[in-house]
Amino acid sequence: MKRKQKVFLLVVLSGMLLACAGCVRIMTYTAVDTVMGTVSSQTIYSSREEDCFTSEIKDLIAGLEQDTLSWRVEGSEVARINAAAGSGAGVQVSEKLYADLEILLKLSEDSGGAFDITIRPVAELWDIDGWAAGENIFGKQPVHIPTEEQIALALSYTDYEKVLLEDGAVELPEGMALDLGAVGKGIACDRVFLYLQAKYVQGAVVSVGGSVVTIGKKPDGTQWQIGIVDPWDTSAFVGILYLEGTHFVSTSGDYERYVEVDGVRYHHILNPATGYPAESGVRSVTILCDSGILSDALSTACFVLGEERGMALAEAYGAEALFVDTEGNISMTEGMKQVFQER
Ligand code: ADP
Ligand code: MG
Repeated sequence: MKRKQKVFLLVVLSGMLLACAGCVRIMTYTAVDTVMGTVSSQTIYSSREEDCFTSEIKDLIAGLEQDTLSWRVEGSEVARINAAAGSGAGVQVSEKLYADLEILLKLSEDSGGAFDITIRPVAELWDIDGWAAGENIFGKQPVHIPTEEQIALALSYTDYEKVLLEDGAVELPEGMALDLGAVGKGIACDRVFLYLQAKYVQGAVVSVGGSVVTIGKKPDGTQWQIGIVDPWDTSAFVGILYLEGTHFVSTSGDYERYVEVDGVRYHHILNPATGYPAESGVRSVTILCDSGILSDALSTACFVLGEERGMALAEAYGAEALFVDTEGNISMTEGMKQVFQER
């Protein structure tokens, strides 16, 4: 073929390819499911003729809960670690869980223990899961407010420094137990991200409870919009985050799970130093960063630490943070100001 002909053919072929790219149809797949005891919503933009994304994501999150994170499901990795506490034998776990536990223990240390994955005995004493099931909220059962002695005893079985990670195995002392309740939804977002990345979708936004992952871009070129819940009116937002590309966002708030007894409000984010619900002058903390597990863990840690120390911790992790304090004031890191618009 002559050079001129070759060039002509190349031009025609590129023209056809461009025309084809222009006519690719982007499909939108949406679903809302109940997983991990919370609501998960998924919106996926893809040119591929696949409608299995959303059901596979649901299975993936349910499987993560079932096989790895739940302390209630016999045989899950966390349940096996807890069951072996005090036996002197380490429990071999998956590489992913081991890596996640390393991240969480480092954060426990960096937060001075404000975040503690061994909080389980105290959470159990308060019966936080009972509140979540609604039994207490609707007054079917009397709410159990623990005594100071009970709290002191439960606290003596918490201490992240006693968790032993060695050669892929995890070991706990007698009476201690792991609680990944603060990070399960963030870990789920990490796994959803890996799943969708391998599917080459054009864009997606998936939420699991108070944790969200955004991936790629929207077909219409507009930004992702993530609402930050108003703690005083959970059907409203205090503002919106406008994001482009891949991000992880998690919010921890005292309005998520709580009970009221004799006019006192008890919520589900505990201060590991006291064994009582954290009172740090904030009502919610939102973290924006490039990891689901960290956004979720940091939101809990920063809630316990309060605005000043929480802001410093978030910055040390290169994360953006937004605090809503008990007076309704909003404060945030510089990077968060760039993407947040108050309502
Ligand atoms: P939500 O579950 O509403 O997203 P969080 O992410 O803040 O809220 O997690 C709260 C859960 O984490 C509690 O139900 C408990 O199991 C656990 N938890 C509470 N306080 C702490 C803490 N200081 N450190 C680690 N885990 C905690
Ligand atoms: Mg959290």
